[in-house]
Amino acid sequence: MKNYDMTIWDGAIEALEKPGDGWINVAMEDSSALVLDKKVKDLYLDYLKGIREAALRGEYVVGFFTSVPYEIFRAMDIPAVQIINICALTSLATGIVEECQNIASDLGIMFETCSVHRVIASHFHKGWVPGVKLIVRMFAGCDTASSSGGPSSDYYGIPEFGIDVPYEYNERAVKYYAAELLDLIHLLEEQSGKKMDWDKLKEVVRLTGETRRLTQEIADLRKTVPSPMENRRAWQLNWLNWIYAGTQEGINWLTTVRDDLKQRVKKKEGVVKEEKFRLMDLWMSPLHCNLKLMGWLEEMGVVVANECLVFTWGKEIVEMDPSKPLESLAHKFFNGPLMGILHGPIEIGVDCIVKAAKDYQVDGAIWWQNNCCRNTGVIHTWKDALKNQVGIPTAEIENDLMDPSIASFDQIKEKLEEFFELLESRKKEE
Ligand code: SF4
Repeated sequence: MKNYDMTIWDGAIEALEKPGDGWINVAMEDSSALVLDKKVKDLYLDYLKGIREAALRGEYVVGFFTSVPYEIFRAMDIPAVQIINICALTSLATGIVEECQNIASDLGIMFETCSVHRVIASHFHKGWVPGVKLIVRMFAGCDTASSSGGPSSDYYGIPEFGIDVPYEYNERAVKYYAAELLDLIHLLEEQSGKKMDWDKLKEVVRLTGETRRLTQEIADLRKTVPSPMENRRAWQLNWLNWIYAGTQEGINWLTTVRDDLKQRVKKKEGVVKEEKFRLMDLWMSPLHCNLKLMGWLEEMGVVVANECLVFTWGKEIVEMDPSKPLESLAHKFFNGPLMGILHGPIEIGVDCIVKAAKDYQVDGAIWWQNNCCRNTGVIHTWKDALKNQVGIPTAEIENDLMDPSIASFDQIKEKLEEFFELLESRKKEE
């Protein structure tokens, strides 16, 4: 098993602790917005420090990929690293993205592989992810994430587990998914020596139900014109939902955001002084300049009113039933933001996106196009549906999530300015 090197985690913690520095901080006059940003920093700091301490104590730590339900690890009291989010963000916080890309190249990982996963490979090769003794991945949504666990576990010399998910959503699929989770629980019990606390799992699932309701409330409040929420907030909500699923801290955070939005909606106060355009975000904006970009859009009077991966649910809204925790987690997967529209028949995503474009009254959409990502085929159908069914144009911005050499902040701004000219001329014609 690999020896861990805490340099990167220590560096990321140090960056987050600095006031006015670190990747999460933004310069804004609005004090309530800054209070929320401070909470994001604090939640990340608690999370990173918790994992670091657990690893230093030699505890059994799990590394998991997107959409693997954190609730299982919480109920078993097993610390767990959300690999994608944390490898990317600790790299950005410590300024080592280029070094990571070079390490991945030296390992023979092709440039055409999604840069997030090149970063992950470099972290596991170097031993920068503390304490991980099992990798859990999901065979759904992202092909690269489905495969990325393989090299990660090889570099660490540890086992891995893949959760298989049926393509279609139906009763049989829910049972199958729940059985997969049960297999995972048995493996965790065998490997960690800890037992599943089924009462705790029920409570965690109940709390997850609460976070889902709050997220839906936030989604509804965001339909208001002018838009009450900062452009950067949606992805913060998404990432924190990944690592604070089924916790009271997660509920407290969402409640603060919801209350802030309620206040603004009541006062008819928009997040920008004069709202020029409302956009829909069809994919995640580049992480290397996400905050700068979202702030610049606001300066331009442009709000991102809906991020379809974060605020679109999918087939049906199913309430979490704590008495059936594993089935409830299956419903969360099939009908939750992200996989609700990304996994399964493409028509479901198309219908949801067209509906969201109308509900959120958007003028245009942005597709942060990443040629390394196989999901581009799916997004193409969303983009075409927006144009053909509701006449909404989409800006296609080629970029890479981590690597600014594909498109820098300034190059992205230029392309967006051209798109805003198009939106302006459409408005004049109306
Ligand atoms: S950009 Fe695409 S390939 Fe990369 S992590 Fe996201 S879904 Fe996976």
